[in-house]
Amino acid sequence: MTDSDAAALAERVREGELRLYELEDHADADTAAAARRHLLAEETGTDLSAVGDYTFDAADAESNIENMIGAAQVPMGVVGPLPVDGGAAEGEHHLPLATSEGALLASVNRGVSTIRNAGGATARVLKSGMTRAPVFRVEDVAEAGEVSAWVREHADTLADAAESTTSHGELQGVTPYVVGDSVFLRFSYDTKDAMGMNMATIATEAACEVVESETPADLVALSGNLCSDKKPAAINAVEGRGRTVAADVLIPHEQVEERLDTTSDAIVEANTRKNLVGSAKAGALGFNAHAANVVAAAFLALGQDMAQVVEGSNAITTVDAREDGLYASVTIASLEVGTVGGGTGLPTQSEALDVLGYGGGGDPAGTNADALAEVIAAGALAGELSLLAALSSRHLSSAHADLGR
Ligand code: NAP
Repeated sequence: MTDSDAAALAERVREGELRLYELEDHADADTAAAARRHLLAEETGTDLSAVGDYTFDAADAESNIENMIGAAQVPMGVVGPLPVDGGAAEGEHHLPLATSEGALLASVNRGVSTIRNAGGATARVLKSGMTRAPVFRVEDVAEAGEVSAWVREHADTLADAAESTTSHGELQGVTPYVVGDSVFLRFSYDTKDAMGMNMATIATEAACEVVESETPADLVALSGNLCSDKKPAAINAVEGRGRTVAADVLIPHEQVEERLDTTSDAIVEANTRKNLVGSAKAGALGFNAHAANVVAAAFLALGQDMAQVVEGSNAITTVDAREDGLYASVTIASLEVGTVGGGTGLPTQSEALDVLGYGGGGDPAGTNADALAEVIAAGALAGELSLLAALSSRHLSSAHADLGR
């Protein structure tokens, strides 16, 4: 690619000969991106040299972005080593986190070192299933009952149709929900190492064709919002979506004082009044201090779908001053993660997954995504401990001030 190739392509857009989204049909992906920058820079009077200074081949990102102009670069750091004894995760982990929030990694790392000193976190994926819930139109509630009954009786037929579209996905079940003359069918899939939203959508479309041919129901929308994707929804917080994962740790009381500069009792009180009572009063779905901070930073670093941080914030933090130490846990109801597909193959994200040790498909399939979920949950636990400690020792604002913010 030369600058003049990009400039010539930009000129063809300016003259109305080509549309912005057609450039890849006339040049390689990097030249197309450069031509768009050329146009944008001229039209908006902006310098886009930083946006255009990316390290990967634009062609490798074609399934991740349209109308590409470059890359948004966010600083990436690491916390660890974080020992996690999981159902799938094992040993010490360096967890890459990408963020623009100063003090976040310092805080999470303080929690990580406290967990490490206490012998590590335990974590388990407790439930796994990616959901898609199409909505159908029926005549009336009698027909809604008929369709629901048919679906309950023909789970195997629906599984055959759905699973014909994927070599990894398995239909776990279909739950009908009826509202008047609307029938929602919530399909749930084991998507192994994939986050699974494309997989579940494609599989569900095939199953919907069977529902339409065998019952009077008419499909209105392949997603009826009872899935529920990328929106705050109680169904995810209660039933789970993606992975339901929990992490916990027991920290000797003297270590709480030495490492977190507070007491177990103060952390318990802060958690009760803030995370439990305050969240209840606010009508929150997530009863935690800032689990979304670790979820978002991990999602960004590790190629996950950022909009699903909404579901990743459905976490409840508990702490308890036991005789032998401070027990702390974080349970994330709906953590939607994958180690294959989506953004996981992008170069920096794939390197970050390799740092963690869980890039690509697991053996057996599904274990890498389980391990990723367990480490993120343990990271969120570290973040909860550190922030609760900062609040209960009243060090929150001074810690930010010390770090120049
Ligand atoms: P994908 O990139 O569409 O597909 C991943 C594919 O990897 C699977 O379908 C599977 O093929 C294959 N695969 C290879 N090894 C695997 C293993 N060990 N475990 C599981 N699968 C394996 O990814 P996806 O996870 O289904 O969907 C994620 C993408 O969907 C993200 O880009 C996200 O932004 C996007 N998204 C889509 C929607 C939507 O409604 N379509 C909504 C939200 C997000 P086989 O199926 O052939 O086995």
